[in-house]
Amino acid sequence: MKNLFLFLIVLITIASCDSIDSTYNTFPEGEKDHTNSNFDKAKTKHLDWNAEINFDEKKINATAKWTFENKGTDELILDIKDIEVSKVVLADKEVEFEIRAVDSMGDALIIPIGKNDSTVEITYSAGGGVAIQWLAKEQTAGKKMPYLFTQCESIYARTLVPCQDAPANRITYNATVKVPTGMMAVMSAKNPKQKNAEGIYKFEMELPIVTYMIALAAGDIEYKAIDARSGVYTEPSMLAKCARELEDIPSMIAAAEKLGGPYPWGNYDVLVCPPSFPIGGMENPRLTFATPTIIAGDKSLVSLIAHELAHSWSGNLVTNSNWNDLWLNEGFTSYFEKRIMEEITDKDYTEMLWEIAYQDLQADLKDFKENKWNDTRLKVDLKNRHPEECFSAIPYDKGALFLRTLEETVGREKFDIWLSKYFAAHKFTPMNTGMAVKYMEENLDLQNADIDIQEWIFKPGLPEKTAYVFPKRFKKIDDATKTFLANPRNAESLNARSWSTHEWLYFLRKLPKPMETKTLRTLDASYALTGIGNSEIADEWYLQAIASKYERAYPAMEKFLKSVGRKKFLEPLYKELVKTEDGKKLAIRILDEAAPNYHPLAARKMRTIVK
Ligand SMILES: [Zn+2]
Repeated sequence: MKNLFLFLIVLITIASCDSIDSTYNTFPEGEKDHTNSNFDKAKTKHLDWNAEINFDEKKINATAKWTFENKGTDELILDIKDIEVSKVVLADKEVEFEIRAVDSMGDALIIPIGKNDSTVEITYSAGGGVAIQWLAKEQTAGKKMPYLFTQCESIYARTLVPCQDAPANRITYNATVKVPTGMMAVMSAKNPKQKNAEGIYKFEMELPIVTYMIALAAGDIEYKAIDARSGVYTEPSMLAKCARELEDIPSMIAAAEKLGGPYPWGNYDVLVCPPSFPIGGMENPRLTFATPTIIAGDKSLVSLIAHELAHSWSGNLVTNSNWNDLWLNEGFTSYFEKRIMEEITDKDYTEMLWEIAYQDLQADLKDFKENKWNDTRLKVDLKNRHPEECFSAIPYDKGALFLRTLEETVGREKFDIWLSKYFAAHKFTPMNTGMAVKYMEENLDLQNADIDIQEWIFKPGLPEKTAYVFPKRFKKIDDATKTFLANPRNAESLNARSWSTHEWLYFLRKLPKPMETKTLRTLDASYALTGIGNSEIADEWYLQAIASKYERAYPAMEKFLKSVGRKKFLEPLYKELVKTEDGKKLAIRILDEAAPNYHPLAARKMRTIVK
């Protein structure tokens, strides 16, 4: 998953931070920290899900039939939250069940089982849980039909289906989903390619996945193939544009296969969601869910797809066994993403991606300095904390930089062989930091290597020696910026019409804040930044506009805040707005008007900023 900084619903007491320990053995692996289930004693293996989506009532009425293996216990315990259970049937007989409230992260559904039991069917209704977002037809691109999408990572699958919601537990599933006529449903599974008249769709995910990878969307969705194994799902009005923007997916898959081995999941498709999708993308197996903000018109933001595609190996095939080890999913993927981009673009281009990520990492290191310094370790300790607390640039960008440093230390050839073996040797199994470190130490010949793995993983901050390189293409931007700032009335001196998105981001981030209105007007006159369709550039520009009180950009900035639901963009703008009294008033009004279109988590997060 990319760029997820979710609102925390939990009031938590952060355990006092222990002194830094350089051995992973003393860290909890935490496989059972965020689940109330007993998957170690009675393990769910396969789900048969039968669901009907009722858009009028915003309810999913469903039966979940689980096949499980009883390893010698008298109860099956599933995670559950914001779900109403009406009936539990065990081997054809209705049984009493208990829902025990545990904490704000979830409850436990306790079902008594006998020695020989192996199936249980739960009839229930869901709809108000965090995983599920209902959109009115007005909130879609086509404005014809309502829409539904789910987002189950990290621990929200339990609000969609009672399950053993732990990343160390893998399951397969089949599903039958009924939606209103005219709609199509899609899941993280083998998917339909056409709508059918009955509105009944069948799905199969025969490869073992983790519950956070269960995903569903339904609405006025159509499909366009890119090639035999990849294509795009989205609303009809966006289909041609999205397919054009994402036409390089087959070359991305080919590039990824060079490093990861054969693509393991059959088809790779992308669902481009409506604008309120709260994050960049979610790597649901076989069907990445993505924000429409990556559709820039010039393919300049498709590295997000490279990231989600890379998760097909790092994350979906080899999965962090617990949330303390998120860097195994996200660090490996952020590294892998850059390797895909290097293959389909070139090294100079990819260095810019590394640099932008490095800036994000530096920003989080700075932010965490005061209160969350121990969370700048790659392996964190999230006991009694919500897993969302670990989603920052640390697991993503520090993790990727560690792997790049490791690659450069041992040499690319050796590293690549190691990485593809790592995926092959651990496919469909849970992976924790201890296991990964052992696999590195045993297979990478590191005795005399100039890299301290223990420091990278178990100590906070960044080691002194990293593979950091300043990109050549940004040196040119530095020079151009200097010339421009010496004579800010001449924006043409920047010669910026051919700049890529990342050159623009680098330039805009480097500009002093605030700046004079007339300078911003000059930039705007030359490059039409106010109202620009590229959301990454728009976001940086509006940040500058707010800091400089450049009010000419405010109507466009307001429109942006009301049309985009991606938290990565919303959060910095609201934070910048509330710095002044006038800005705060504006933020309150915009948020009041925009919140109904945001994902509930995004809305709540913005309310914590604008209060
Ligand atoms: Zn990711």
